[in-house]
Amino acid sequence: MDSTLKRTWAEIDLDALAYNYRVLRNWMGSASRFLGVVKADAYGHGAVEVARTLESLGAEYLAVSNLDEALELRQGGIRLPILQLGITPADQTAQALACQVTQAVWSEAAALSFSEEARKEDGKLKVHIKLDTGMSRLGFPCDEGQFDRSLEAICRVWALPGLEVEGIFTHFAVSDETGEASKAYTTLQYRRFSNMLDALKARGIVPEICHCANSGAVAGYPQYACDMFRPGIISYGIGHQAALLGLRPVMTLKTVIGAVRELPADTAVSYGCTYRTMRPSRVGILPIGYADGLHRVLSNRWQVWTPSGPAPVIGRICMDMCMCDLTDLPDVSVGSEAEVYGPHNSVNAAAALAGTISYELTCAVSKRVPRIYYRGGEEIGRELLLRG
Ligand SMILES: *Cc1c(COP(=O)(O)O)cnc(C)c1O
Repeated sequence: MDSTLKRTWAEIDLDALAYNYRVLRNWMGSASRFLGVVKADAYGHGAVEVARTLESLGAEYLAVSNLDEALELRQGGIRLPILQLGITPADQTAQALACQVTQAVWSEAAALSFSEEARKEDGKLKVHIKLDTGMSRLGFPCDEGQFDRSLEAICRVWALPGLEVEGIFTHFAVSDETGEASKAYTTLQYRRFSNMLDALKARGIVPEICHCANSGAVAGYPQYACDMFRPGIISYGIGHQAALLGLRPVMTLKTVIGAVRELPADTAVSYGCTYRTMRPSRVGILPIGYADGLHRVLSNRWQVWTPSGPAPVIGRICMDMCMCDLTDLPDVSVGSEAEVYGPHNSVNAAAALAGTISYELTCAVSKRVPRIYYRGGEEIGRELLLRG
């Protein structure tokens, strides 16, 4: 690690990613394809390196949530099929064709516009039909009241000249929750999904790839593997279900003790004076703040993990710095590394304290934080905000 980098950085352990991939593949069975969800810069882990690793391991598909993310992968040399899960404006159909994106199609109106635009380009846009079985977000509604209307609409979409319908899918709302009501809801969603697949089959419509399993379903309902499964968070070794499968966190967010202060008892620390030392204290100043993605709501709640153990974060987290109590850790000094999230200091626990989910914390690790990629214990690349 160069000294110029040694402020705050995220180590991305591609061996952990490979390990998680193999465990998940094994768990779901070889008949089902692996779609790696790498939207939002692979949940903050770095989309191109994560995609490269998944591609080399044998994943069959990737997913993003806008066209720019797909373009970034293509420019990074990724050749796997890419499913664009989010909304693409129809006037970007030419770009979607150019970067060989498979587009999710969420309504007949969207399908018609995509088909029309694709015909103008003399192309056929590959699409997966999205079914709304209970998220009430995007998709053809599959509840009992709208089922028949959606069935007819999907039959018309299947026949559109500018589209090639390769797949059909749905997304679960509470597959990661274990309460009885959540189980019933997930079962209901799956029943609506398979009812639609059956009804389409009766009309002679059988898309090649049917898929529904997000991380929650992968962990809790592996019987829903279908033709492909779509793990996101769990493949990064985080979220409360990752531990159940023995998965390893891929990201370790690290910082260093930048300075140490000796403060007398009853000294206020940081903005708002929300913390006062209760005894003569040794306080570490850490060069990480909310602009790096360490949410301010973790002020006075979180801890960093030093080589000698946990050091509580004290006082408000500032934009670029925060403070920790080193009074009981005399061996920790300027230059010591401190883990903000990682194998010793679970991002899941930080998320719970922040009143949110781990997804939000890794996605929040900002552009200012260099990602350093490791494979076989060796650094193989890094991504910096300030280039060249
Ligand atoms: C984000 C997303 C996923 C992955 O979700 P995880 O909970 O991270 O596994 C899967 N499918 C769709 C449609 C998504 O939008």
